[in-house]
Amino acid sequence: MTDISTSSAAGERNPVAVAGTRTAADAVTPELVARLVEGITVGAEPAVTQSFSPFTGEVLAEIPESGPEAVADAFARARVAQAAWALRPLRERAAVLLRFHDLLFAAQAELLDLVQSETGKTRAHAFEEVSAAALEARHYGRAAAKYLKPRRRGGVYPVLTQVREVRQPKGVIGQISPWNYPLALFVGDAIPAFVAGNAVVTKPDTQTALTALRARELMVEAGLPAELWQIVIGDGPVVGPEVVAHADYVSFTGSTRTGRDVAQRAAARLIGASMELGGKNAMLVLADADLDKAAEGAVRACFSSAGQLCISIERLYVAAEVADAFLEKFAARTRALRLGNTLAWGADMGSLVAQRQLDTVTRHVEEAVKNGAKVLAGGQARPDVGPLFFEPTILDGVTEESAVCTEETFGPVVSVYRFGSEDEAVERANGTPYGLNSSVWSRSTRHAVAVAQRLHSGTVNVNEGYAPAYASVAAPMGGMGDSGIGRRHGSEGILKYTEPQTIAVQKLISMSPSFGMDDEGYAKFQTRALGAMKALRLK
Ligand code: NAD
Repeated sequence: MTDISTSSAAGERNPVAVAGTRTAADAVTPELVARLVEGITVGAEPAVTQSFSPFTGEVLAEIPESGPEAVADAFARARVAQAAWALRPLRERAAVLLRFHDLLFAAQAELLDLVQSETGKTRAHAFEEVSAAALEARHYGRAAAKYLKPRRRGGVYPVLTQVREVRQPKGVIGQISPWNYPLALFVGDAIPAFVAGNAVVTKPDTQTALTALRARELMVEAGLPAELWQIVIGDGPVVGPEVVAHADYVSFTGSTRTGRDVAQRAAARLIGASMELGGKNAMLVLADADLDKAAEGAVRACFSSAGQLCISIERLYVAAEVADAFLEKFAARTRALRLGNTLAWGADMGSLVAQRQLDTVTRHVEEAVKNGAKVLAGGQARPDVGPLFFEPTILDGVTEESAVCTEETFGPVVSVYRFGSEDEAVERANGTPYGLNSSVWSRSTRHAVAVAQRLHSGTVNVNEGYAPAYASVAAPMGGMGDSGIGRRHGSEGILKYTEPQTIAVQKLISMSPSFGMDDEGYAKFQTRALGAMKALRLK
């Protein structure tokens, strides 16, 4: 292998983007915070907590917390609003989503400021959130009528039994959201719930409460009744279980560890739950891949939102015969990524969101290096750029005893492994309890799709990392195994917020002995009728 580790080892550091000087303090004014926190359902004299700017470490906002009684109050108010909302014609509910789509773009600059200020991601990565939310609003605004349409089903007696399957809203959905995509996930998982006739009580992560509150304001401006979407804030282990305790259905996005706890609480109440959880996603670069495109794609797939993306790639399997050539291109592009700590366009990668993320990333990299891994790019924190910056990092020669080999890092770190045969690549890619997203690169689409179908993974992207499957909102998105239960997007993403109800209308004859028949005669009649229907292929 060529010695591509030299320049990194010699101290070549990622450059800092110079564009712009506006920071979170310029965008998140005390007046804005005071207005937005009005949208939180709180009790009398609420406790106050703080969020921080990942770019600087300074306090960003003081956020009032909800507490158990306020959560109960939020559900009670949402329940009243839901009863009226469910009676509104579907087209009126859908029209709200289509107006919201336009408002998202009208308020784009302000939303990008908020997402960047709370998460520390680049403006380009924040824009992915605006466009993802808009795509979903447009899709469900247009397609909800098709998904929710009452359907005729065959009755027990043709003509005499008329059956329709209708979709009833679940009621009040309890939504628990993470900090990493505070706009796209928060809005995205609520949109289909609303159009299906539900109310939603959301507990966003406190760190990203302002983005959530601004998005809710826009939905209300678009025509959503304000009481229909309640926001509660507080510590996950305190407020989260309260949300599950009152909900008719739970939509959870977060770590697999928390997801197990939430799923158990939901199971104890016999309510349904969708779980969008963690991953350890693999990319396969096959021997016939276009290596330039694969290297570009790997940069996007591994380092978008500084790797704090559930569908981000953390394991890269490369065909041995092209590995050196691929890694040279990939490492050079990775070392050139510009780190950004302002609210301006022009940076390639931003900050981690919190100290615990930086701690995990540092621990995973240091342990892997101690166990013999080589750093091909990055590998270090960058306190000169901001307190939570860590360079985009490529590790080679990671051994199995290192946590980074099997555990989700949720940061800008990818480990590279070489494979001899595609069977080996598939087996190793599947060798994890997770199954969220994966990526296959090949010049032959047919071949890549065949490999994709062998992967234990809810989404597979061919010749891209994650975006096409996620952004194609008409198709289901979610995880197998420890990556979750249920799906967002497509029909699954909306029908999960409904109860199927079967309405059967019986005509002319009743389902009991009639015309003077006794039980035995009725049994004979039924036997003959069922036989005739089978012979005539009526049933
Ligand atoms: P987390 O599980 O720590 O927190 C997620 C949410 O759950 C937060 O709002 C948190 O306050 C709340 N919470 C914490 N403890 C709780 C409890 N005991 N009961 C109820 N709620 C509780 O996850 P995180 O660190 O915020 O997010 C990162 C994780 O989320 C990663 O593992 C990532 O892969 C995953 N994620 C998955 C998807 C997906 O679509 N599959 C999307 C984004 C993030």
